[in-house]
Amino acid sequence: MTTIGAFLLNIVLYSVFPLYFTTINTRLRTVGFYIYISIVLVLGGLAGAVYSFPLTETLHISGGNLAYGAFMMSTVMLIIIERDVTTFQNMIRLVVMIDLFVFLGFNFLAWLLESEQVLNPLHVPAVVFRVSLWVLILGGVLILGEILILLFIFLKVRKLTSNISALAFIYTLAFVLILCMDGFLFPLLAFGLSSDLVSIVFGNVLGKMIIASCYSLPMLGFYFVFQRNFIRFLDAPLTINELVSAPRKKLLETLYYYEIRNRQLQRDKQELAEIAGCDGLTDLANRRRFEQTIEVEWSRCQRNACAMTLVIGDIDYFKQYNDSYGHQQGDVCLRKIAALWGNIFNRPSDLTARIGGEEFAIILPDTHLKQILPNLQRFLVVLQEQPIPHRASSIASHVTMSIGVADCMPQNSSSWQELFAVADQRLYAAKHDGRNRIVSE
Ligand code: GH3
Ligand code: MG
Ligand code: MG
Repeated sequence: MTTIGAFLLNIVLYSVFPLYFTTINTRLRTVGFYIYISIVLVLGGLAGAVYSFPLTETLHISGGNLAYGAFMMSTVMLIIIERDVTTFQNMIRLVVMIDLFVFLGFNFLAWLLESEQVLNPLHVPAVVFRVSLWVLILGGVLILGEILILLFIFLKVRKLTSNISALAFIYTLAFVLILCMDGFLFPLLAFGLSSDLVSIVFGNVLGKMIIASCYSLPMLGFYFVFQRNFIRFLDAPLTINELVSAPRKKLLETLYYYEIRNRQLQRDKQELAEIAGCDGLTDLANRRRFEQTIEVEWSRCQRNACAMTLVIGDIDYFKQYNDSYGHQQGDVCLRKIAALWGNIFNRPSDLTARIGGEEFAIILPDTHLKQILPNLQRFLVVLQEQPIPHRASSIASHVTMSIGVADCMPQNSSSWQELFAVADQRLYAAKHDGRNRIVSE
């Protein structure tokens, strides 16, 4: 195996465990994370002295640096997935405890190995376990400080954009930068200003950049696979100050208060949208506004002796879409369809609405059916040309719609409900005839 291969294998080994823990949804996840982070910290103390990967003649990456990268990666994952205000305080306790354990335990081992009291059949050199308290304290303070800076950046940039992919990339970039910063700060603080500092710093920063880039991949995977946890983390209005200093009970209360308030705001928003006649999901008119409008337009067409056309469209195999892609993705699909549906016609008197789960309608006053058929045909072509993939549909590889259209002269008919019933019957005829089509007679 090549050195690079062995190096990458080491990264993979460090990444699989935290990634696995993120998939567990019980207390075991937290326990697993803390145990893993503790082991990585102990390993880091040992591996730094034991082995390094000579990637090039001058660039050597130590096992300790690899463990440090794994520590940072798993801590970021833990903070985001747990969204627990006490995580940072727990990390402080953990780092202090492990550093103390490493300092006392390792130096005791070193002393034992050099003493006459034990046998050392493998002749393990004592120097492997000699750790300096100063380096441990420095390392501990640095990693905690770096996590704080990362959290600070996370909390600041989440206000800049609501695009989840962009935030995932910015967070990952920040992760890489912080690791590089460590490559600069650690030798500077550990060795002070010296003549060969520049070359040490250069090699260290480059090494950290390589490590950070490698750990970025599992991090990015984590952000995308656990989008829901990521979004919840982005929504949690906590500040660094609260994370570091406020007592746990008060923090939990604050978090609870914000959750309650958030839910109330969502309910209020839905109610307001309902009153305004707007469908909260798609921004089209809702059923209520549809019925109010068709009533008014019906009377107007009756008075003016002009025709009215009604279009009803229903997404094909939408239940299967939800089953296959999930309800959340189903909502995304509804929004995309609604945007296209709202663009078929553009006279100000036309009204486009979502009148049921995956059922849409358009009221076209002063319009004959024949006038609008070409636009409707084009709409089906647009669905084909700008396809929304639908792997569970029995008739196409993209999302399709069935459409029923009817028109009438309102003065001859008694109510708009009759026009609605005809359009609805035609919609079902379109379904019956094989879907992805328009039935207008
Ligand atoms: P057909 O081709 O015959 O129309 O079949 P279909 O599966 O589209 O129709 P069906 O009436 O069996 O299923 C409609 C599905 O639409 C079931 C329901 O879960 C889903 N749905 C209704 N409202 C919403 C919503 O707001 N969001 C999401 N994601 N799904 C919805
Ligand atoms: Mg349907
Ligand atoms: Mg339906």
